[in-house]
Amino acid sequence: MMEPRPSPLATIDGAIPRDGVAGHRRPETESMEKISFLNQVNRNFDKAAAFTSHDRTLLEQIKVCNSVYRMAFPLRRDDGTIEVIHAWRAEHSQHKMPTKGGIRFSPDVNEDEVMALAALMSYKCAVVNVPFGGAKGGVAINRKNYSAHELERITRRYTFELTKKNFIGPGVDVPAPDYATGPQEMAWIADTYISLQRNELDGLGCVTGKPVHLGGIRGRREATGLGVTYGIREACSNAADTKALGLTPGLDGKRIVIQGFGNVGYHAAKSLEEGGGRIVAVGEADGSISLPAGLPVEKLLEHRQEKGTIMGFPGSTALPERDLLLELDCDILIPAALENAITLNNAARIKARIVAEAANGPTTAEASDQLFQRGVLVIPDSYLNAGGVTVSYFEWLKNLSHVRFGRMEKRFEERAFQHVLRVVESATAKKLGDDIYRAMVHGADEKDLVYSGLEETMVNAYQEIREIQKRLDGQADLRTAALIDAIDKIARCYAEMGIFP
Ligand code: GLU
Repeated sequence: MMEPRPSPLATIDGAIPRDGVAGHRRPETESMEKISFLNQVNRNFDKAAAFTSHDRTLLEQIKVCNSVYRMAFPLRRDDGTIEVIHAWRAEHSQHKMPTKGGIRFSPDVNEDEVMALAALMSYKCAVVNVPFGGAKGGVAINRKNYSAHELERITRRYTFELTKKNFIGPGVDVPAPDYATGPQEMAWIADTYISLQRNELDGLGCVTGKPVHLGGIRGRREATGLGVTYGIREACSNAADTKALGLTPGLDGKRIVIQGFGNVGYHAAKSLEEGGGRIVAVGEADGSISLPAGLPVEKLLEHRQEKGTIMGFPGSTALPERDLLLELDCDILIPAALENAITLNNAARIKARIVAEAANGPTTAEASDQLFQRGVLVIPDSYLNAGGVTVSYFEWLKNLSHVRFGRMEKRFEERAFQHVLRVVESATAKKLGDDIYRAMVHGADEKDLVYSGLEETMVNAYQEIREIQKRLDGQADLRTAALIDAIDKIARCYAEMGIFP
């Protein structure tokens, strides 16, 4: 039984809340000024570290961000004017290589944020047993203000800077999509890297989340959202656990509220709806809507594609204030947007029984403690949104092995299934119908394998962290359990290197 002890790291704090660029202070809201994301992550780390018995110096090594590359470069805009672009890449932990984590485009990105997100990546990878260290990158732009050509120039120059300083490469540091980036940016990154490192056979493995025909993998786009669903489903599968929350087991009929209808929010909504959940409200930057009977996810997406907003969806009601969405009466609340959505300002009014963190850092440490005291289950980001990096791992493996998953065995498996069915037919003297053949004679293709690998990963990791939490006998929440798991795994790595006792 692990006992909590005073945090050995109470005074060790790598948090330097700053913008990172002198004279380039972006406007921040009052609450953002107060909440350093890195402080939040480190506070959660300290809390978990107090339950372990690792050496103080080892804990410091696990907690600190190993390297940060802060860069600035000029962009020639389409109208001929020049602008200075500020960007970062943080590599938090190199206990396993390469380091891994997305690149976000956001006007609010800063050094504190990328360091916090890089740390979360280290812990996340450890929790789901993905053999990478953690990293994160950010470019301080609002992509809506730039043309496609300008975005391409920014992405390629950013990649050039990373390459120059050895902050990218299949065995070094492997970026991926994050907030406001996607397959197109990943394709530009891969192309730039490969043209600079011309003879690198595994060059395509320098980035994941690429388009499928450029070394990407089927299933990566929906991976994070799907992983969120697998995680929630697992959390809701245990009768005793759900009873303690005042819920029934299973997803069926659960009332779900989702903040953020981007790639993660949409795919989580879609798979939860398919699993029997009811999406009763959705919020985006420009407002929130609710429909108690359930918002049909695919139709809502079509509406947004057509009108550019979820607002005005037929049959739905607009909430008087966007963020009231978080306080709606529901079973599961899924923050799937940015950090600090749930703070002490609104935590007491959260009515959901489960808060499922699809975003990174959506709940402040204090708010999370308060929810735990109130018996709300917070499924932590360091576990729940790890589906993206899990499938990124599969993509990286595919790039290194230069062969699509399922290519070698699909036909072989189908023949084997056919053979078994023929044996059954002759043993029973009964002809099986075409539909049975079609359903059973199906060799796994890439997507099947990715989905099954993702499900296996999310289910096992949930069980692992839930077991740790049970051993703590009600003293700690699931976030602390996940971080204990991550700390122990990273510590074991260092111990095996013979560096720390
Ligand atoms: N940006 C995603 C995350 O925060 C994915 C990272 C990756 O695939 O490397 O987990």
